[in-house]
Amino acid sequence: MTTLNTLSGCVTRYDPQALPVSAAQAIVLQWVTPLAASERVPLADALARVLAADVISPIDVPAHDNSAMDGYAFDGAALETTLEAEVESAREASAREAAAGTLTLNVAGKAFAGHPYTGAIAPDACVRIMTGAPMPAGCDTVVPQEQVKCSGPDNGRIAFAAHAVTRGANRRRRGEDLAKGGVALRAGRVLRASDIGLFASLGLTDVEVKQRLRVAYFSTGDELRSPGEPLDAGCIYDSNRYTLGAMLKRLDVEAIDLGMVRDEPAALAATLKLAAERADVVLTSGGVSVGEADFTRAQLQKLGDVAFWGLAMRPGRPLAFGRIWSGGTPGAGHAALLFGLPGNPVATMVTFYQIVRPALLAMAGAAPQPVPLIPARCEAAVKKRPGRTEFQRGRAHRGEDGQWRVAPTDSQSSGALSTMSEANCFIVLAHEAAGLDAGDAVDIMLFDGLV
Ligand code: AMP
Ligand code: MG
Repeated sequence: MTTLNTLSGCVTRYDPQALPVSAAQAIVLQWVTPLAASERVPLADALARVLAADVISPIDVPAHDNSAMDGYAFDGAALETTLEAEVESAREASAREAAAGTLTLNVAGKAFAGHPYTGAIAPDACVRIMTGAPMPAGCDTVVPQEQVKCSGPDNGRIAFAAHAVTRGANRRRRGEDLAKGGVALRAGRVLRASDIGLFASLGLTDVEVKQRLRVAYFSTGDELRSPGEPLDAGCIYDSNRYTLGAMLKRLDVEAIDLGMVRDEPAALAATLKLAAERADVVLTSGGVSVGEADFTRAQLQKLGDVAFWGLAMRPGRPLAFGRIWSGGTPGAGHAALLFGLPGNPVATMVTFYQIVRPALLAMAGAAPQPVPLIPARCEAAVKKRPGRTEFQRGRAHRGEDGQWRVAPTDSQSSGALSTMSEANCFIVLAHEAAGLDAGDAVDIMLFDGLV
């Protein structure tokens, strides 16, 4: 056991070579300082950006009571009068059929969205009204046009069953979407399509967002070749840099691709210093194991502080985390958090999603957004020993009974990137959990969401 002094001053006892995932996530978040800088961007460029301050609604939305239907607006008091008259007439059996609670009104004029009706309305009158048109003064209820019978010259009279409408029906109230002076959206919100439209509905043209986080990344390994280059004997194509670039794109950070670095301590140190100079966070892949060509952890130790270098996690055991300084020693130059991710392509992705992604979001100023876990039945037996968290690749589907079911992919190799493309979820096997029998309950984390 080692004592880790975190920068925030907390002191906790952990094994830095085999941290439980939850402890690693907590330590990483302790080391994160959210970006302070912000900038104004036009609405059209605000999608996926992080809101820097609460947005207060400058107006009521909608700005006036308006109709939710195409129909006829009238004073709902007439409904009560009609229904009372019906009760009266029902006492005289002969009049029962004739009365039947029918309300008859004269059409006094028309109201369209953008063209209000401004005249006065008599108690026995109504206004033909279209969806979105302001409610005329004195009207509080709309009867949909499908419910009325029209008669008279120019359909100037309508009749409908008073039972079928309640007072206040089909009227949208002023400020019902957003009230003037209320908080429309809170700081820390990662902006979605609806949010952009919501700002537009408030009449805003631009919005204050956090500056984009700068994330530098590179691959390490003498065996790596770039796509497009010939594949020399014993070499492989560098896929991690492309996976990382794509995952960073999804987070809308400013991604800085620093290419491939050979397994040479001097080259690695130079690139790490350059990365710390230019970025807030540095991601590397490979070279964090205990092999003879694994230099990342040693460099991290030289250029800064190491928090941990191993997780009780599969895939993803070798993961180094800490802080490096562009000047080459702690305190010199610009500091950046460093995640030394494992080289195996699935481990790179799993550690990115489980450890790096929440940290990047927090650093970008986003409010925490836990990824939902969904209960499912596992369709096959799964081997696992307690004492580490596993993120197996699975294919989930919803059965006819509405229950989620999941099948692990045939291969669970951390080198087989195809399993990530084949899968649509992680099967999350908790730290203490042992293996599963077919049919056992398990949590899954779906890859895809709607928005
Ligand atoms: P390492 O942690 O450097 O020992 O790498 C572990 C495994 O991942 C080895 O089989 C490497 O060849 C492979 N690997 C490392 N980096 C990459 C990369 N950028 N793209 C694809 N595979 C990689
Ligand atoms: Mg390597």
